[in-house]
Amino acid sequence: MKQCEFTQEQREHFILSYLTGDLPLLEKEQLESHLSECSCCRQGLAQSQELLSLLAYSSPVVSPPDSIRVRLLERVASKDKKAIASNVVKMSVSAKRINWRRYAWQIAASILLAMFIIQSYYLFDSNAKLKQQTKDQENRIAKLENQLQQKNEQIESMVKSTRLIVLDGKEVMASGRAFWNTNGNSWMFYFEKLPPAPKGKTYQLWFMTNLRPISAGAFQTNADGTIQLHVKTPSETPIVGTAVSLEPEGGSEKPVGTIYLLGFV
Ligand SMILES: [Zn+2]
Repeated sequence: MKQCEFTQEQREHFILSYLTGDLPLLEKEQLESHLSECSCCRQGLAQSQELLSLLAYSSPVVSPPDSIRVRLLERVASKDKKAIASNVVKMSVSAKRINWRRYAWQIAASILLAMFIIQSYYLFDSNAKLKQQTKDQENRIAKLENQLQQKNEQIESMVKSTRLIVLDGKEVMASGRAFWNTNGNSWMFYFEKLPPAPKGKTYQLWFMTNLRPISAGAFQTNADGTIQLHVKTPSETPIVGTAVSLEPEGGSEKPVGTIYLLGFV
């Protein structure tokens, strides 16, 4: 068998360079030619392949960074063979650590991305809900504004269509107010300080037209001298005034007793 021309250091250097693809073409061809003849170098190649595969399998996902490969070659070129073996193990651990760190970063990045996506979704979702709520509120406000406008129109209409007639006390300190709803054709009378009618007597409310007084009914006051009366506008028009008189019990066809309150339209 031919004696190998390489020293151990040279052999390891060439083999590692060969395995890592760093050997120039000419040297590569020379080494391959040499390998076909040298069992010692073939054995070295086999061992180095085994070491590299060990390294590769200990870091299966990510290939060793260039710095590690350079350091590997440097170690291989060093004199201490034992150091090579231990350092390869160390490098393997280092590569694992680097891989683990890379994993950790990838996982952290994935988690952050997932959180961002979830957060974005919830923000989007809550934003959509808020928009919907705002829309609902706006609809409610619009509805209320519409109702308010209708009420205002009703009130305005009522104010426009309501006439106030003040009735003055003629015999006593009585007073009265009448609200004539010209649209609804009804009257609300509010009398106060009308003393209770004497026994056998009754108060009677009158509308007055240009032609004649029209009875709107007989009534008694409350104990405190107040009374509210709601009556319909008589069909005979125009109404020129309204009055309260004290009449015999049961009322009269036309006012014959004392006029207590009188107001003109
Ligand atoms: Zn050889």
